[in-house]
Amino acid sequence: MSNIINQIKRTILVVEDEIINQEILKEILGSQYDIITATNGLEAIHELTTSIRPISLIMLDLNMPTMDGIEFLNKIKEYNIKSIPIIVITSEADMELSSLELGATDFIKKPYDMPEIIKARVNKAIELFENKLIISQAERDELTQVYNKNFFKEYVKKLDEYNPNIDMDLNVLDIENFQIINEIYGKEKSDEIIKYIADELKRYVKKFDGIVGRLEEDYFIMYHKHIENYANLIKEFYALLEEKYGITGVNFKLGIYEIKDKDIETDIRINRAKLVCDHISNTSQTHYLVYNDSDQKDSLLHEQLVYDFPTSLKNREFSIYYQPKYNVEKDKYYISSSEALVRWNHSKYGMISPGIFIGLLEERGLIRELDKYVWEEAIKDLATWKREGIKIVPVSLNVSRIDLLDDSIVSIFADLVKKYDVDSKYIYLEITESACNNNMNQLINTIEKLRALGFKIEIDDFGAGYSSLNVLTTIPFDVLKLDMLFVRGMANNKTLKMIEIVAEIAKYLDVVLVAEGVETLDQLNQLREYGYQVIQGYYFSKPLKKEEFYNLLGGKNDNN
Ligand code: C2E
Ligand code: CA
Ligand code: CA
Repeated sequence: MSNIINQIKRTILVVEDEIINQEILKEILGSQYDIITATNGLEAIHELTTSIRPISLIMLDLNMPTMDGIEFLNKIKEYNIKSIPIIVITSEADMELSSLELGATDFIKKPYDMPEIIKARVNKAIELFENKLIISQAERDELTQVYNKNFFKEYVKKLDEYNPNIDMDLNVLDIENFQIINEIYGKEKSDEIIKYIADELKRYVKKFDGIVGRLEEDYFIMYHKHIENYANLIKEFYALLEEKYGITGVNFKLGIYEIKDKDIETDIRINRAKLVCDHISNTSQTHYLVYNDSDQKDSLLHEQLVYDFPTSLKNREFSIYYQPKYNVEKDKYYISSSEALVRWNHSKYGMISPGIFIGLLEERGLIRELDKYVWEEAIKDLATWKREGIKIVPVSLNVSRIDLLDDSIVSIFADLVKKYDVDSKYIYLEITESACNNNMNQLINTIEKLRALGFKIEIDDFGAGYSSLNVLTTIPFDVLKLDMLFVRGMANNKTLKMIEIVAEIAKYLDVVLVAEGVETLDQLNQLREYGYQVIQGYYFSKPLKKEEFYNLLGGKNDNN
């Protein structure tokens, strides 16, 4: 990481009214950074809005005349200042929480008696923040420069937060028969068409204070202020493309989901808009359709699954597959742990993958029950294997965001390891960044309790969501698992750079680094080079049936 940070001397803005304290910070940090000062929040805002040199960090005293630190934190949101990490300087411990909530990154306590610690925290805040900026470059679709799905979802959340009372629509736009256009015009021309369309969509959502993202190849998603009448709009849109870009013969379908309840998750909103979008037949004269609640009933399979769930659970139609994770630090690889992945062997539909039912069960508030079942089965398996004398390895269990909404998870796990007499160090809990959008204080509290009991915390799918600095610096965790998409995109240099940066972050935070979705030897070698210690993926093994995994551990062959 030093290569990134050392190239230029960065500037720190110290906002502090006491000259003596300014001087002390200059003394501590001056050799490494340029220090500029302001004596209150107002001056700081002036500095931020007029200074032409980029400021890498703000160190903010809370007690100041004219405009104090808290007021400054509140105020800065109103200005269009690119976010800068802020370390709050305080002598009052109880102010830490409220300043964190207002967006501060870290705290330093007064008086300044540990210069080395101050230096280290300043360096860390800047390094992590700059890496986050680099990571966030992945937020846009390369071809069209609209948001990718994950970032789109994050921004939807932000828009909702800022405008809780404004009516919004979430729309999915499908470019009909895009495959055919692709074949007729060729890749280059159809890329161009996609770009034109994306540009027009950007212009259109801007009018309604919205955002655009790309959902898949030929689907776009939009989120903007509610529109009463789409008919004219669509007409305009067609005319524009035809007149301006000479694009004819391209048809669109627009699925519209009017947001009535902002508590409904974005994934569900997208699914609903897409559902109606896909319902518009290719031959119909209608180009758009508005979702209404009865459409959901069309999704018969989903309803059936929800209906069947309790019986299926009782009848043990759910089973656990184990996918081994290999430690690849040394030249001799070995299985260091596994991930438990649930499968539904439905009496009528056969094997159903979690991709279909996890989201659904989450949406219907049933996931807790399933997770609890999976956790118990996996811990029971560990206990059985241990009893049979094979050398067991830790198992990672998936934890849904919903499982973490309160701390009942702590007693669930405490009870389970007690019941089956399994050491908690064998249990890793995979949580995703999205869990960190819940109530942070409560989440940290829950995680700390779990860790105190010996359970390990693994951040799953890292980099897929909005990798906020807060997640890394405020959630205590032991293992960082890179999202599969990064491995998928390794051919791209920018992605490769990010893989490397994530490795550097993990090294810096001293956590174990895992990559999943590794399918080829090339991927494996490259990841090893960057220092990835644990590898999960088809290259080594698909998720295995319980018995197969047991054999792999040496269960029957008795090698261990
Ligand atoms: P995940 O936690 O990211 O799990 C990894 C997924 O990637 C698994 O899909 C696994 O089979 C797949 N995978 C592993 N290696 C490779 C590879 O080399 N290439 C490719 N293409 N895929 C690979 P799976 O089993 O279908 O699970 C999908 C998702 O469902 C999981 O994603 C997880 O979010 C969720 N899930 C699975 N089991 C549970 C569970 O018990 N509880 C909860 N809450 N969620 C679960
Ligand atoms: Ca997982
Ligand atoms: Ca994952």
